[in-house]
Amino acid sequence: MRLKDKIALVTGSAQGIGAACAKRFIDEGAFVMLADINQALGEQFAASLGERAAFIPCDVTAAGAGKAAIDATVQRFGRIDILLNNAGIIHSADFLDLREEDFDRVLAVNLRSYFTFGQAAARQMVAQGQGGTIVNMSSVNAILAIPDQLPYAVSKGGVNQMTRVMAMSLATHGIRVNAIGPGTIATDLARKAVMGSDEARRKLMSRTPLKRLGEPDEVAKVAVFLAGDDSSYMTGQTVYPDGGRLALNYTVSVD
Ligand code: NAP
Repeated sequence: MRLKDKIALVTGSAQGIGAACAKRFIDEGAFVMLADINQALGEQFAASLGERAAFIPCDVTAAGAGKAAIDATVQRFGRIDILLNNAGIIHSADFLDLREEDFDRVLAVNLRSYFTFGQAAARQMVAQGQGGTIVNMSSVNAILAIPDQLPYAVSKGGVNQMTRVMAMSLATHGIRVNAIGPGTIATDLARKAVMGSDEARRKLMSRTPLKRLGEPDEVAKVAVFLAGDDSSYMTGQTVYPDGGRLALNYTVSVD
């Protein structure tokens, strides 16, 4: 039990990676508040996790959403020890056609909410006086570039840098902040983004040394590590469960 009786809030947890993380956190002994914009799916999934889980419907971009979610977590479970900022969306467009409103929409979910939730959680953790951990969901696209994914890549680059700054700011309060940068993981988001055709799938596999997609639970295991004491001397880092993608260079065959 690596998170025994810890209290966690996970955003974007009705499905995909966030759902897998919420489940693993509970399997490791935590109590989890799930927050997602998809109320029907979120309620159903939280109910399937049993008494240690609760759900709040939440658009992470709404004014005051971060504080409201932290308050709801404290009201339900008594405090907060772990925040996993995970909600994320994509928008594909050629750079020349990208609209300002789509840029803003992606940044609001993928980056701005990590600040608002992170700040609200950190304020509560400081008031509690016992430290805590914050984990931000980044991506290999924080480093790599997909030409038609400008807002997504920019948001994830921002997540890595926000993680470092938060880590520096919160270290003296005993709050550690780290990020996870997955490669391509088998979720709805990935299917929409990069798995549209056989050709897209072939290209993807050609750049994935382990020759398969990652599973949401393989990201959740890293989240447990970063959320718990096993990573007690780590802060400001991004860990990449990416099937080897970031290690590829031009000497490696991509066929
Ligand atoms: P997913 O399956 O689409 O799940 C994301 C969840 O977040 C969905 O339930 C979604 O609801 C919810 N959400 C979207 N906008 C929200 C908002 N404004 N407020 C609250 N909840 C919101 O995505 P995923 O693949 O698990 O991705 C989770 C995170 O991992 C994201 O940050 C993503 O960038 C990152 N990631 C994923 C991959 C991958 O290959 N899957 C790789 C690297 C990083 P709706 O479906 O109703 O919009």
